[in-house]
Amino acid sequence: MRFVDKAKIHVKAGDGGNGCVAFRREKYVRMGGPSGGNGGKGGDVIIMADKSLKTLMDFRYKKHFKAENGQHGSGSNKHGRNGKDLIIKVPVGTVVKDAETGEIIADLVYDGQKVVVAKGGKGGRGNTAFKTSTNQAPDYAEEGQPGEEKWIELELKLLADIGIIGFPNAGKSTLISVLSKAKPKIADYPFTTLTPVLGVLQLDYGKSVVIADIPGLIEGASKGAGLGHEFLRHIERTKALIHLIDISDQKERDPIEAFEIINKELEKYSPELVKKPQIVVGNKIDMLSDRSLIEKLKKEFSKRGYPFVAVSLVTKEGLDQLIKLIAEVYEKISEKELIK
Ligand code: GDP
Ligand code: MG
Repeated sequence: MRFVDKAKIHVKAGDGGNGCVAFRREKYVRMGGPSGGNGGKGGDVIIMADKSLKTLMDFRYKKHFKAENGQHGSGSNKHGRNGKDLIIKVPVGTVVKDAETGEIIADLVYDGQKVVVAKGGKGGRGNTAFKTSTNQAPDYAEEGQPGEEKWIELELKLLADIGIIGFPNAGKSTLISVLSKAKPKIADYPFTTLTPVLGVLQLDYGKSVVIADIPGLIEGASKGAGLGHEFLRHIERTKALIHLIDISDQKERDPIEAFEIINKELEKYSPELVKKPQIVVGNKIDMLSDRSLIEKLKKEFSKRGYPFVAVSLVTKEGLDQLIKLIAEVYEKISEKELIK
């Protein structure tokens, strides 16, 4: 599943510090000699790819980034300290563009890859630097140069880690909105009539999991009915699936049967797909009168080799447990990728 996440930010490098006009203390003796130090260089603004990041969401809240200015030079030929560089971390895969010209500045494809997007201003020279044989006591110095500033466009193709499958009305859209605090901008998706929704689950230790709601998976999808076939092709790239089932009193079919119908569709399309890890989620337990069904289903699914958790997306019962399970599965997927 690929979606495009975009952000526009303003970057400003540090200004260079001014050079200093000063004369040595012994200047009680006339013309003690110049001693004004140079100004420090302004810090650069650097954009760096970091593999622990997944989306450009943070940039919706913070848009302005400024590196530190260089310090001014001072007397006794003291140079001003250089301003610190500012490093902005973005996910691996982020394309960095000049927002005005549209020119691609960098395509950050590996962890730790960096690009300077705004250069810090040079520090001005102090008056000592201007001493010559003909001018032993210059009383002027340079100003620091301003740091570069510009608008930058960040663009990231998001790859969903986990897809949500299940019958219509199982609660897929609801799950996405409950799991994600916010939705990144979605564009470029070819199926405008059945827009899948992308959610990002923030795990409490700073990582995030990208989850895609995949509507359109219906009976007959593998025969190419409607858009189902196309959607199946997209699910193929996710690394794990959440299989959502309505287990309430109002459910339209037996939960195990619902699970098997959907999985059969998956298998017909691609035997590889069914082998992906699945978290089975029984939903709508706020409308379930006979709670013994939960234990029964847990046993049934565990026999088939799937973890099962029962939730209500309305009352949020069981949600913490589901998030824990998603985190565990996600960690397992990530480990496998490291080994590869
Ligand atoms: P989707 O077709 O799988 O995307 O399902 P939706 O997320 O659109 O949900 C279908 C209906 O079920 C909506 O009216 C939801 O409000 C409702 N729903 C979702 N989760 C729950 C739940 O935990 N309890 C109850 N009672 N209703 C739910
Ligand atoms: Mg939906």
